[in-house]
Amino acid sequence: MGTIAALAGGVGAARFLRGLVRAVPATDVVVVGNTGDDDVFHGLHVSPDLDTVTYTLAGAVGAMGWGLAGDTFRTLEAYERYGEATWFRLGDADLATHLYRTSRLREGATLTEVTAEITLAWGLKARLLPMSDDRVATVIDVAGAPNSGSGGGEPVPMAMQEWFVRERARPPVAGVRFEGAAEARPGPAVLDALREADAIILCPSNPVISIGPILALPGVRDALRARREQVVAISPIIRGATVKGPADRLMAAAGIEVSCAGVASIYADLCGTLLVDDSDADRVADVERHGVRAAVAPILMRDADDAEALARRALDLVS
Ligand code: GDP
Ligand code: CA
Repeated sequence: MGTIAALAGGVGAARFLRGLVRAVPATDVVVVGNTGDDDVFHGLHVSPDLDTVTYTLAGAVGAMGWGLAGDTFRTLEAYERYGEATWFRLGDADLATHLYRTSRLREGATLTEVTAEITLAWGLKARLLPMSDDRVATVIDVAGAPNSGSGGGEPVPMAMQEWFVRERARPPVAGVRFEGAAEARPGPAVLDALREADAIILCPSNPVISIGPILALPGVRDALRARREQVVAISPIIRGATVKGPADRLMAAAGIEVSCAGVASIYADLCGTLLVDDSDADRVADVERHGVRAAVAPILMRDADDAEALARRALDLVS
């Protein structure tokens, strides 16, 4: 059916994409990946969502949905000797990817170029485009400890990985920002990919911190609005809960109902159709109140067959 563009975060997106590349020729798939979670650890540029997509499509991802299956952590353990913080887990074989990415960036390659090299090395047929070659950092403003007397303290900014991994997503969220997004440019092939795609899929990713940073880049929201009837989203929220991860807490903090209808409200201006779970059939009218067509299907993916069926269903809705 021509090319398919997919906006993607990490684990939820990757689980869906492994089905999409079975439903259509993988060479027809262009993935625009979130880089708002990127950070630097031990001097290495880490791109968690890009790597989760790469390793998953390569069939090499670890059991947690990140890192490499069967990896060991001897280097990280050795690092503890030097008093370095090692709460961000980087496996020994995974480190090769980070060493390679970092050295290529230092040589002057762009993140788009390096990502193309890495995905080629892993045998991916789909294209993976970082959303931007410029630095965009998702910042979680954590609500300050309440002062004695009325009101709370000043919010404390935390890098996404600090809040999510080090603090296990426990500190209460006052707000979310995408530092650098307004000045960043989308990756060089991103806007053309959105303009030329026959279908655009918003993967079942965290709408706030996985899809949100991509939409915050200049031109992306407009490009999607112009293609609204070709845009289909898959709800990451089923029966008022996330399948995994902190989407529920981040939506609630933004004053958005934690439901497929809440997801529809976030995407309403740029997405014509939202796929919701069978178990949410009673919420169709609430989704459509936002001007978004609702389609009902089993959207919980237990395996790649489920993901493939879901991808076929999503494509049927926009072709
Ligand atoms: P992260 O960057 O690793 O957090 O990955 P994403 O943002 O891509 O994925 C997290 C989202 O995927 C969460 O909001 C989950 O609810 C959602 N998710 C995970 N598995 C499934 C699934 O099988 N079906 C659906 N519909 N959503 C899922
Ligand atoms: Ca992520």
